Amino acid sequence: MAKFIFVTGGVVSSLGKGLAASALAAILQARGFKARLRKLDPYLNVDPGTMSPYQHGEVFVTDDGTESDLDLGHYERFTGISTQKTDSITTGKIYSAVLAKERRGDYLGATVQVVPHIIDEIKTFVTNDITDEDFVICEIGGTVGDIESLPFLETIRQLGNDLGRENCMYIHVTLLPYIAAAGEIKTKPTQHSVKELLSVGIQPDLLLCRSDREIPEDARRKLGLFCNVKAERVIEASDLKSIYEAPLVYHANGLDTEVCKYFKIDAKAPDLSTWQEIVRRIHYPEGMVTIAIVGKYMQLLDAYKSIIQALTHAGIAHNVKVNLKWIDAEQTDQVAHHLRGVQAILVPGGFGNRGVDGKLEAIRFARENKIPYLGICFGMQLAVLETARNVLGISQANSTELDANTPEPVIGLMTEWMDGETLQRRQGDGNLGGTMRLGAYDCTLSPQSITAKLYGTQAISERHRHRYEVNMTYKDRIESTGLKFVGMSPEGDLPEVVERQDHPWFIGVQFHPEFKSRPFAPHPLFVGFVGAAMENLKS
Ligand code: GLN
Repeated sequence: MAKFIFVTGGVVSSLGKGLAASALAAILQARGFKARLRKLDPYLNVDPGTMSPYQHGEVFVTDDGTESDLDLGHYERFTGISTQKTDSITTGKIYSAVLAKERRGDYLGATVQVVPHIIDEIKTFVTNDITDEDFVICEIGGTVGDIESLPFLETIRQLGNDLGRENCMYIHVTLLPYIAAAGEIKTKPTQHSVKELLSVGIQPDLLLCRSDREIPEDARRKLGLFCNVKAERVIEASDLKSIYEAPLVYHANGLDTEVCKYFKIDAKAPDLSTWQEIVRRIHYPEGMVTIAIVGKYMQLLDAYKSIIQALTHAGIAHNVKVNLKWIDAEQTDQVAHHLRGVQAILVPGGFGNRGVDGKLEAIRFARENKIPYLGICFGMQLAVLETARNVLGISQANSTELDANTPEPVIGLMTEWMDGETLQRRQGDGNLGGTMRLGAYDCTLSPQSITAKLYGTQAISERHRHRYEVNMTYKDRIESTGLKFVGMSPEGDLPEVVERQDHPWFIGVQFHPEFKSRPFAPHPLFVGFVGAAMENLKS
């Protein structure tokens, strides 16, 4: 039977619970176990797809088309396992399911209540869809003490009884702040947070303590004493230079050893050599390239989390540091100025009019100055639009997303595609989040393309999240300028990849390659892109 590890957070938010859960899963994998990660999010949105990246960071997309919280990205990058719909749950999803059952009459007229109906629904989710996993690590979003997370805490408390305390472990990730005036690390906030957990019936088995410095032995002993946790299960998790150090540092601090002891599992020592090599390359790069990212969510760079990570992974592959230069696309008149001196330019995905002119300007700059360019999703659509306007001279060329009545809809909503057995048709006025082409779709690449050479195959599958497509009635005209459609959906109707033939490295992809990059398996497109930036530096 799978062992369940529940990870809660205390004192403040943004403590890196997702990272801690991911790192623990990675170490358990390195010990030869099969681990699965899940996230329970307290907000009422049915999925994070409609939440603004300004507030919540990136919307991560899984193979099966779930729009999820960015922590699922960490889960995949640390374990290499593709997450699924069943690994991401929100209060909104739980309530929707319960209300649908109530409408169908499934509760046979009973009074529908948080206890037991909502709790039972969460329990089903937590324990569902598990096959031969040794460990299921469930992260509870939010901070202990929030009103919203109470049903989740009640669920994991009950599961301790249902599954047996010996099969469930509670890890509490907490903060030990350093107070300069006292010259001390303070344990009181953690004591209070544990009290809060105790008040809902949960005694944590292990404390993972975030801190900006080393935690003295007496602070650990004191915490153990007051929080009723063995001193060796008060584990230090001080700030790291790179997130990829976490598996090594948490192992050195005893996290996985204590987990194995708790469950009375006699496990082999973990083989962390891959992580050691990744960290060595991050700390000792043999060069540096500067890549500009021209986007619009500059106040919260978490909106570009997977892209940043994918570029880091490609840097690891080449053993160089990838320095990122963030350029705000809304400062249109300064875009070209800021792009001088960078080795490559990336325009990421995006929605809506804001910053479009600056992005188009960046693309023109990359095309004319032969600077390596990678356009992702919106960045691909805009690359086509830039060519239509500036090379073909179609001055009114536009996307119907940006101007619904454009006479020249080079990008539009004019496609249909098969999703399994059903024909999907996109509508501009459908539910937000409900009308997108989401999740993994196949793409066939032209054999001679740079993209096919990078992937080492012509048949690829990548994750999508978009509503609009390049309008293929413009195909011949666009191709006459040297911008070729080198990747298409297998049926040949949906454009997936464009490459400029008169340019050393100019690629646009309709999909999001960044979601599938791992530190131990960097994504070929990003490896190619950083390689092109290194070539550019030499020339
Ligand atoms: N806004 C564009 C569309 O909906 C691109 C989306 C994206 O970049 N993820 O098609």
